[in-house]
Amino acid sequence: MSNVRLHFLDDLRSWPKCGRLNIEQQFVVNLVLISVNVEFPELHVHLEGTLEPDLYVKLALKHAASSSAAHSDCDLASSDGPESKRAPAAEESQSIDPISESEMSSKYRSLSNLRDFLELYYANMRVLQEEDDFFQLTWAYMERANANHIVHVEPFFDPSAHTSRGVPFAHIIKGISRALLFAEEKYGMTSCLCMCFVRDHPDALTEALRVLQLSLPYRHLITSVGLDSDEINHPPADFALVFAEARKYGYRCVGHGGHDGPAEPYVSQLISALGVERIDHGVTSVASEELMAYLKQYQLPLTVCPVSNVKIGPFESLAKHPLKHMLEDGLCVCVNSDDPAYLGAYVNDVLCSCVISMGLTRRQLCQLLANSFRASFLPSSMKQRWLHKLQTITEEKDL
Ligand SMILES: [Zn+2]
Repeated sequence: MSNVRLHFLDDLRSWPKCGRLNIEQQFVVNLVLISVNVEFPELHVHLEGTLEPDLYVKLALKHAASSSAAHSDCDLASSDGPESKRAPAAEESQSIDPISESEMSSKYRSLSNLRDFLELYYANMRVLQEEDDFFQLTWAYMERANANHIVHVEPFFDPSAHTSRGVPFAHIIKGISRALLFAEEKYGMTSCLCMCFVRDHPDALTEALRVLQLSLPYRHLITSVGLDSDEINHPPADFALVFAEARKYGYRCVGHGGHDGPAEPYVSQLISALGVERIDHGVTSVASEELMAYLKQYQLPLTVCPVSNVKIGPFESLAKHPLKHMLEDGLCVCVNSDDPAYLGAYVNDVLCSCVISMGLTRRQLCQLLANSFRASFLPSSMKQRWLHKLQTITEEKDL
């Protein structure tokens, strides 16, 4: 486990002893502790954002070794030798700087804004080159999610960030899908994979259309398409064409907006130009009465990531984050981690920290968990089954 991980649960357990909680808050703490054993889904997590420093170093060393071996082979072998079978991106492994796990952990901990985060996030992807790298990345997340009682995941991946380095699309999708399938076989975890278009990629629309075409042979492995990365100056309407195309092929549509950009146009265009079924972040919607009324009326889900919004977003603290206000207004919001390795908090940690910092009630916490199921792309029958189970557990525990 990474040493950048925060210890919200330890903090939480010490709270009742400090005498700082009233009876209602103590109930909440109990609920959170029990909720560690309550099963719920995660709908907003970037697989590349789960790259822990230890796995980064492991993969960097692997590619450094294979790169030097390939170079020595190169002097002896013909062009049909083993090195010719390597992915083009493997040639780029020469540019991976040697770094220790503690140095990488230190880089993670020092992140304080979106630009610095994205720079490190994309730079670190250089260690993801072969199918097995994507398998290891995904499997590490799924094992951790299973340990945290996450029963269903809808993770994002960013194909353009890899194909633009020469990594074949097949390596990416096969590695990820193999891990998701393995998690289903081993733990019974279900998943709906989301392929994101990288909105600040050079020539982003052309690239998104290209990635969409690359994905078609693997259409059965991907549920939805999304839009991520730096939203400023990259409004959703720029991607209307590729979302319309994706919809023709049966992909469901989601999109990032309102992380640090204003609701207009970054959230509103997700609805008006892309027709998304779910908004990722969307927290700046609180500034627009009209948009809040729309989100409430249509119960359009928002996958909110409070720790991300504070650590690399516009909010000063969790106490000043609008999650509670959005819940009280009747919006379908749920809590997620975003990029947990980099932000130092997985979804259970985020949930606990929200309860502490925002003073969520028991009812609000149950609502967040139920919203996660409601907002998922699970079949209706499975949603009802999970919601019933959640309700039974909370009633049994008098929560
Ligand atoms: Zn995100």
